[in-house]
Amino acid sequence: MPDDRIEICSPATGETLGSVPIATREDVAEAAAKARVAQVEWSQRSLAERCTVLTQVKNVIIDRTDEICDLLSKEQGKPRVEAMVHEVANLVDLIHYFTGEADRILAPEPIPLHLLKHRASYLHWKPRGIIGVIGPWNFPFNICNGPVVVALLAGNGAVVKPSEFTPLIQELAREIFIQGGVPEDLVQVVHGYGETGAAVIDHVDMVEFTGSVATGRKVAAQCGERLIPCVTELGGKAPALVLDDANLARTAGGLAWGGFANCGQVCASVERVLVHRSVLPGLLELLVPKVAALKPGDTQADASIQIGPLNNRRQRDIVQALVEDAVSKGANALVGGNAIDGPGHFFEPTILVDVTPDMDIVNKETFGPVLPIMVFDDDEAMIQEANRSHLGLLAYVFSTNATRAQGIAERIEAGTVMINDVLATHGMPETPWGGVKASGVGHTHGDDSLRHMCQQRHVNYGRLPSLRSEPYWYPYGPKLYGGFKRMIGLILGTGLRNRLRWFRG
Ligand code: NAD
Repeated sequence: MPDDRIEICSPATGETLGSVPIATREDVAEAAAKARVAQVEWSQRSLAERCTVLTQVKNVIIDRTDEICDLLSKEQGKPRVEAMVHEVANLVDLIHYFTGEADRILAPEPIPLHLLKHRASYLHWKPRGIIGVIGPWNFPFNICNGPVVVALLAGNGAVVKPSEFTPLIQELAREIFIQGGVPEDLVQVVHGYGETGAAVIDHVDMVEFTGSVATGRKVAAQCGERLIPCVTELGGKAPALVLDDANLARTAGGLAWGGFANCGQVCASVERVLVHRSVLPGLLELLVPKVAALKPGDTQADASIQIGPLNNRRQRDIVQALVEDAVSKGANALVGGNAIDGPGHFFEPTILVDVTPDMDIVNKETFGPVLPIMVFDDDEAMIQEANRSHLGLLAYVFSTNATRAQGIAERIEAGTVMINDVLATHGMPETPWGGVKASGVGHTHGDDSLRHMCQQRHVNYGRLPSLRSEPYWYPYGPKLYGGFKRMIGLILGTGLRNRLRWFRG
């Protein structure tokens, strides 16, 4: 393969699937310039027109679902069912939600002024310009294109730099945007490695980045240099707390899916199971056979296969090293524990017990098919262990007592805590998706994500246009000083302020 192209191979068979050209800095500059020209016309269209075009895009996605799922399954390695549910259905619903709600979310918003009531304020929203979307390889269709849709609704253009491991699906996505009626130059796709991603940041007005913590820090630093906003959606180490009153049948099913869906390559995957000692035997009895039944294979060759390969060799090596470290420190594999030989990047679905806090498997992101289980004697110890991580994206609590579970959920340092379920809030576009601590800054999804794709602008005007001047204008003098001194005492001081509550309106 020439140096200026990336070859894409099937993660299951090693077969070559295609190749894409690597964009140089000049190519990126040219792509951004084209998007910028197209964005001017796009931003002048009404919000209703933009919603109509994106609804057409949604319908094209629905019509071309099988083609999208086939390519996702080939290039990323996931079962077609997961491609359908986690990527296509998820994105279609996101478009459905935001095209239905954009009018409300982007409506000008009055700000009731609490003090200077002779004036009034409101917020309104203007597109930022060009949004750079830099994505990972685990949900390449959904994670790259959710932000593109939201960016376009807000009136922006986009330059997308998909992962070097899964670029082909983004070529199909671009075709779909155009088929749906998006102007040809408005969504640009550039391919390459980190340098191409860095070049994108130099030419856009905001960055929506999803990827590792290490890259996220570089992206945020570069955005800081340019003083442009960025949303960073980074790694996770989600703990699942299994309390002593958990419904074990539901918990076992949830842990199996939460740990092994997409072969564990989900930022929200269950990466640490923290179980109350009293329920460990019952849980294992139900969980072990479920995981043992997950036989990895080529999801293209056999539709009944529930779990595919890891997407790339680098990721398989990371998983293998973490499992070897755990075993060398005393962990035992109840199921799996090994890489599988062959051209594909397969790893056996694995349950580890006798896991201790010094093991890398509970401290570093695994991003693979491993459930390490730690045992505790009380809720407090579980909460402490959950919060020990430097990451805080998702967390899960399993309990039949809603009040107790919510009390614990509110103490866990994570962007989202689900009770008695896992992963699924990514499919709820009205809820914010984003982490705390090193899991990132900002949110995709939620109404604020659409507003954040815009410049928030503020207009303040006089409600009494006949006033000749304002009390805080020139000339200064003792009268002005004394007047303000009396005012802060009377209106903003404690006593009278309470009596004047009505004044706030
Ligand atoms: P990565 O950081 O290696 O790469 C992500 C993207 O950044 C790729 O497109 C890559 O080419 C690009 N890139 C690399 N260096 C860059 C630079 N200096 N400047 C700009 N772009 C650069 O991550 P990955 O391995 O593709 O993805 C896996 C990671 O993504 C995991 O940590 C996972 O948890 C995280 N992730 C997070 C979320 C979330 O919503 N929080 C979702 C999915 C994945």
